[in-house]
Amino acid sequence: MTRVAILGSTGSIGTSTLDVVRAMPDRFEVVSISAGSRVDEVCEQAKAFGVKRVCIGEGLGDAVRERLGGSVEIVEGNDGLVQLVEDGEIDTVINGLVAGVGIRPTVAALEAGKHVATANKETLVVAGEVVTGIAKTKGVRLVPLDSELTPLWETLQERSLDDVKRIVLPASGGPFFDASLETMEQVSKAEALNHPTWKMGPKITIDSATLMNKGFEVIESHWFFGLPIPKISVIIHRQSIVHCMIEYIDGGVMAHLTTTDMRLPIHQALVHPDKVPSPVEPLDLVKVGTLSFFEPDLERFPCLQLCYDAIEAGGTAPAVLNASNEIAVDAFLEERIGFMDIPRVVGKALEAHEVGPGDLEHIYEADGWARREAEGIVEGMQ
Ligand code: MG
Repeated sequence: MTRVAILGSTGSIGTSTLDVVRAMPDRFEVVSISAGSRVDEVCEQAKAFGVKRVCIGEGLGDAVRERLGGSVEIVEGNDGLVQLVEDGEIDTVINGLVAGVGIRPTVAALEAGKHVATANKETLVVAGEVVTGIAKTKGVRLVPLDSELTPLWETLQERSLDDVKRIVLPASGGPFFDASLETMEQVSKAEALNHPTWKMGPKITIDSATLMNKGFEVIESHWFFGLPIPKISVIIHRQSIVHCMIEYIDGGVMAHLTTTDMRLPIHQALVHPDKVPSPVEPLDLVKVGTLSFFEPDLERFPCLQLCYDAIEAGGTAPAVLNASNEIAVDAFLEERIGFMDIPRVVGKALEAHEVGPGDLEHIYEADGWARREAEGIVEGMQ
């Protein structure tokens, strides 16, 4: 029996994970869950899964206590998240937290010797070297939860990297795949949130529309798989059916094809190395009909290039990339800046940054600096 803590249980990764574990009650026990502010939803989940601990955002503990009574332990905020993952009853932590808040609990979980499956890209982008280093030292699994990275991770477990010429990460291209640069300067928040193939939270949906999300996956792949950046390619694939490809040195290419359902990579990551039937619909390629592929346009999607620049600069640069992007995406969602201003804010913050060493102390410092810097850049644009 694997005993799991699910961080961000009311988000899209959290609810998909609960769906997956619900189907395998003899294999998984949900011991604890966390949510930011969705009190009603997290209490319903706590009752349905009979959890022992709930973490909720700062100041909301009493509201949860009122609904759940004394049988469930309630903790709050970022310290509460660390308490959940360090708990001796937990074997595996599922990190479905949004953005930078996910770093500290991942580090704490790995340090405490827990396996971690993470959908939180920011952790690997910002502190990839640190977290993969801790996982290695502690001998625990650090697994990506992602439609592209999970099947890559699964396949590469059984392959020497010497056999791999390159990996290819497909991106849907988002809602502005064929929009002109002029149009993209003017697009609204609602248009940017209208992703063609995936239903996700607002932050990752905007990151998908700018291709920042794919650039993050390039950086993640570098750390998760130990592949040099030139061996990681991005291709635009409109239908989101091919989720990753591995080109081997003999010229053969293996592709992973599935329907677009996040429950599958979560299922794969959780039951690895077994193959177990999942609740996911089978893929009907005849119904799909056509698969199309295009080169990404770095002029209209400069965020992808910024990711390559940041990982090349190394050290604290990816932390600045991530933090300034969070500020820029928030500002776009608050309709304070335009869509194409997102890469401008990130580019300017990266330009102004003096790269430091990539240890946690410098990363946290660079994160704070980048947020202030990006906020200043946003204000200057208004
Ligand atoms: Mg992905």
